[in-house]
Order: sequence, then C-alpha cells, then structure tokens
Amino acid sequence: MKTDLMLRLNEELAVRIRAHAAETYPHECCGALLGSDGESHREVLDLLPLENRNGDSPRNRFAITSDDVRRAEKVARDLGFELIGWYHSHPDHPALPSEFDRVHAWPWYSYLIVSVEQRRPGQIASWRLAEDRSRFAPERIEIAARVVVAHVPFRSPLRDRN
Ligand SMILES: [Zn+2]
Repeated sequence: MKTDLMLRLNEELAVRIRAHAAETYPHECCGALLGSDGESHREVLDLLPLENRNGDSPRNRFAITSDDVRRAEKVARDLGFELIGWYHSHPDHPALPSEFDRVHAWPWYSYLIVSVEQRRPGQIASWRLAEDRSRFAPERIEIAARVVVAHVPFRSPLRDRN
C-alpha cells in the first residue's frame, strides 16, 4: 500500500456529495467515486449516486449490490474513468469508518465518508482498507477550489446619480 494516500476532488463534487447526504438524511446516502488512479494521488472526476439497498438499517448502514458495482464500473469505463471508490454518509456520527464499514469494505478502493448532523453536512474524510483488511488507513483529501465567475450586474456610478 502506498504510504502517502491522497484523494483529490473539486469543490463542485464535494458540494454534490454533501447535498446527497442532506437529501437522504436521516438515512445514509451512498454512491460511487469515478476518476483516475495516479502514481501520487487519486482524483475524483465524477460521481454516480446509488440507492442505499440496506432496507433493515439505512440510518447507520449502507449496502450496494453486485449489480451496482457492475453498473458503476461500466459508467466509469464509458466516461474513460476508473471506479476508484465509494462514498457514503454518517447521519449524526463522525466521518470515521464503523466496524460494519470495515467488514464490508474491499481493499484498494477509497472510502469517502461525509458526516451529516441534523441534516447539515459537515466533515468529509476518506479511508482505504489495509491489504490484510485489519484496519482503515486515512487518506488525505484535497478539495480544489472551483473557479467562480461572478455575474454581478454592472452599474455605472455616474448613472446612479441621476
Ligand atoms: Zn459507514
């Protein structure tokens, strides 16, 4: 496993993940992270929101099916990306992986978790399962700022004096 793990995403994708978490609150949301796996870091370039298939305990667990995995792989491939991981939310819990998360995780993938308190999305963290599956290692997240073009109507100060 690489020693310095890093996951990069832009602000727009972070906003979409947070919005999905708020939308499904108090249930966990989940989805796939599509992007590229580079030498020094990974980059999320798109998302595929998925339905939480855990009907028994959707407030603190999420489940995806093998069909979801195949679909996510296909969508990634069609976009020229890779399936690099998964995201899900922790309603009223910190963005730390649970024991359930560890048992159900696969090595290699990035597991991004967003905490959502009282429907307000908060901290985002990402994790990778160790090869021996004994624990999660934290993955540093870098959220790149989006270039925002402000559309402020221009008002001439001279004209305003009329
Ligand atoms: Zn979890």
